[in-house]
Amino acid sequence: MLKDSFNREIHYLRLSVTDRCDFRCFYCLPRSHREFETPDEWLTSDEIERIVGQFSMLGVKHVRLTGGEPLVRKELNEIASKIAALPGIEELSLSTNASRLAQFSEPLHSAGVRRLNISLDSLDEERFKQITGSHLQPVLQGIDAALDSGFHPIKINMVVMRGINDHEVEGMVEYCLDRGLTLRFIETMPVGEGGRSASQHYLPLSEIEARLRKRYTLQPAAMRGSGPASYFQIDDSGLVIGFITPQSQHFCDTCNRVRLSVTGDLHLCLGQEDRLELRPMLRSGASDETIRQAIRDAVMRKPERHNFNEVPEAILRPMSALGG
Ligand code: SAM
Ligand code: SF4
Repeated sequence: MLKDSFNREIHYLRLSVTDRCDFRCFYCLPRSHREFETPDEWLTSDEIERIVGQFSMLGVKHVRLTGGEPLVRKELNEIASKIAALPGIEELSLSTNASRLAQFSEPLHSAGVRRLNISLDSLDEERFKQITGSHLQPVLQGIDAALDSGFHPIKINMVVMRGINDHEVEGMVEYCLDRGLTLRFIETMPVGEGGRSASQHYLPLSEIEARLRKRYTLQPAAMRGSGPASYFQIDDSGLVIGFITPQSQHFCDTCNRVRLSVTGDLHLCLGQEDRLELRPMLRSGASDETIRQAIRDAVMRKPERHNFNEVPEAILRPMSALGG
């Protein structure tokens, strides 16, 4: 079992399989960003299998594949199959912008991915383009394909930004109601240049909750998941909505996760810079036990909480480097 010095159990690994993306969401990956990692530095699918195997031996049960956009990594299916086959991994999930999901949804489901988080910030073609630099229709087709393939749950993640898409909240509720999708609203985080530029549109989600309460009855709901969202059921429907409030109400006390970058850096907190470089160990013949001990020691250094509010300029890497 992996435990940190604040007695938090770590059983969730977010694994970034690429730092590249076919979108340019302005709050994540500024269009000017050029500093991508070189593929020689990327962990290979065999290295990923080995390292995730060590995490599973240490008690990690849930792995989420993320990016950048994970579907732009050619070996994604192979990586997914290898991880799904590891003993101890009970859940394999994926975060995606869904732009390529129409094509890859079936193979990913066959590879063992079951839970999906899909980013969708707008249902309006023009606004979608303004936010992401890309097109809405393939994303909507990707969501339909994911429903057909039987992923469950499928959670739609909407970063709510004042003056950009906050008027679309009710429309998004209806879209998710119609399709039986879980909907989660997310506050912007000041991660990287993009995240800081989005801070001017920051909107505390308590405002959205109050607005929705005027229209719907919200009952606290239990939702099995590994995350920090607080969930509510809407009216008597099957729709569950969640609020993820890293800025207005941080949830670091119950943090259960660490993050691995595509280059093998183990990040202990999204909002801090502490990390352990695992790639040099992997490539210099370190034993499995040495790697596990290094992971245990690093997790003991996991910071108590992020400092988004106190030091919003602290994190230079874009969100796409670690996948949220
Ligand atoms: N490309 C995939 C996607 O968009 O779902 C996975 C990686 S993306 C970095 C993971 C999540 O981080 C997305 O839901 C995205 O909206 C969110 N995100 C990115 N930058 C953010 C920011 N500055 N504040 C809040 N959420 C952010
Ligand atoms: Fe790409 Fe996801 Fe970042 Fe958008 S949020 S730029 S889809 S990595």
